[in-house]
Amino acid sequence: MKAHISILLLFLIVTCYTGHAQTHHAQPGQPNFIVIFADDLGYGDLSSYGHPTILTPNLDKMAAEGMRFTQFYAGAAVCTPSRAALLTGRLGIRTGMYGKRSVLFPNSAGGLPLKEITIAEMLKAKGYATGIIGKWHLGQLPEFLPMHQGFDYWFGIPYSSDMGKIGTTRYSPDNPNATAPKPNAVPLPLYRNDKVIEEEPDQHYLTQRYTGEAINYIKKNADQHKPFFLYYASNFPHVPLYASPEFEGKSKRGIYGDVVAELDWSVGQVLKTLKDLKIDKNTFVIFTSDNGPWLTQLDHGGSAGILYEGKNSTYEGGMREPAIAWWPGKIKANAVSSALTNTMDLLPTFAKLSGADLPKDRILDGMDISDILFGKKDIVRNMIYYYINESLYAVRKGPWKAHFTTHPSYSQEAPVPHDPPLLYNMDVDPSEKYNVAKQRPDIIEDLRKEYEKQKAIIPAPAQMDKILPATGIK
Ligand code: MG
Repeated sequence: MKAHISILLLFLIVTCYTGHAQTHHAQPGQPNFIVIFADDLGYGDLSSYGHPTILTPNLDKMAAEGMRFTQFYAGAAVCTPSRAALLTGRLGIRTGMYGKRSVLFPNSAGGLPLKEITIAEMLKAKGYATGIIGKWHLGQLPEFLPMHQGFDYWFGIPYSSDMGKIGTTRYSPDNPNATAPKPNAVPLPLYRNDKVIEEEPDQHYLTQRYTGEAINYIKKNADQHKPFFLYYASNFPHVPLYASPEFEGKSKRGIYGDVVAELDWSVGQVLKTLKDLKIDKNTFVIFTSDNGPWLTQLDHGGSAGILYEGKNSTYEGGMREPAIAWWPGKIKANAVSSALTNTMDLLPTFAKLSGADLPKDRILDGMDISDILFGKKDIVRNMIYYYINESLYAVRKGPWKAHFTTHPSYSQEAPVPHDPPLLYNMDVDPSEKYNVAKQRPDIIEDLRKEYEKQKAIIPAPAQMDKILPATGIK
C-alpha cells in the first residue's frame, strides 16, 4: 500500500513537473498577432493619411474599422535597425544593430545577435506558431536567418530587393549607377525556410506570392486551432518598383501608386481571410512601415506628406509612419490616436495580450500600449529618441522636439551640430519649420537633460560592419 502511494506521488510529481516545464503549450483565448510591415512607405502615402491620388481603400477601411495613429514611429530611420527594433523592442544601440554602412548588405557578415529575444521567440515559448513572409534584413548568413530567430516558417528574401542583380530604377545622388544591372552581384535569393528555392524571382509577382503565402499560413494555423504570429514584411514600396499586370499602369501616381495599391489589395486579402475563417475577433493586426520615403529615388520614392524629410533623416519624415491597428470588437471603430507610439511597443504589448513572459534580463525601450488600443488611456509614453547609427540626434518629450544634430538625408555632407539645439513644438508645427529655441530656454534646458541622460547609455558593440572576405561586392 505504502509503495503504491509512493509511486502515485512520484507519478504526480513527474506529471506536474513536466506539465510546468512544457512551455510550448497554447492556452485557449490567446489572440493571433499579424504585423504587416511596408518598406520605405511615407507618412503621406495612403489616402487615409491625405494622399490625393494614391487609392488605398482596404487600408482606409481597416482604419475605419480600427485605430489610426498620427504619431507612431519606426525604431530607426533605415531598414535594418528599424526591423531589429520592431522584433526586439530595443533600440539599435542596445542590440548593436548599427554601423557605418547603416544597413546590412549581401556581403555583410553580421546580423541580429542570437542572444536577442525576438517577438517570435517570446510567443513561441507561449505555444504560438511563428511565421515570416517577406523581407528579413537582419543578417544573411545561415546562422542569422529567421529560422534561428524564433520563426518556424519563412518565405521571402533576406534583404532589400534592389540588392540582387537588378539595380534600383531611378538615379540617386548616393548611387549614380542605380539603374545599371549589377553583373557581379549575388542573384537575389528567394527562401523557403532555410533553403534558397529561386534566384532573381520575377518581382512583378512578389506581392501576389507573399499574399498567397500569408493566406495559406493563416488558414493552416486556423485549421489546427493554433495561435499564431505572422510577420508579413513586404519588400515594397522600396525600389525597384514592380506590380502585377492587374495593377501596373493603373494609378494616377504612376508605378509607385500601382505598388502601394497592390500592397493595399494584399492587406485587404489578409483581413478578408480572417473574416472568412471567423477568427477576426481573435486577431490583432497592425499595418505600418520601417522608415520614411526614399526621397533621392525621385518619383519612385514616396511622400512624408506634411512631415519634413524622409528615410535616413531624424526629421519626422524619416521615422513617423502611417500605422493602423485593427481588432474587431476589441479596438473601437473609427478611432484616431495621437499618442506617441513606436514599433518597439509591440513586443511588450503582445506579451501583455498573450500572457507571454517579457524578457527580464535586459532593458526594453518599448512600452505596453494596450491601454491606448482599448481606449483606456490617451498617453503611455512621453519620450521618443532619434538615432542615426549609435549617435543620438534628437529627443522628443511630449510636444517638444530638440535636434542636437541634423544631416540632410543621403547626403555626403557632415552632420551639423546645433547648440543651442533646434526646437520645434510638434503639436503646433509638425512640419518642423519654426525654430523656437530662443523663445523657450526653459524647454531647451529640460530636453538637454533628457538628451544627456540618453547619451550616457553605452552602446553594445556594432554588429553591422563585418564584411565577408573577398566577395568582390561593394
Ligand atoms: Mg526601408
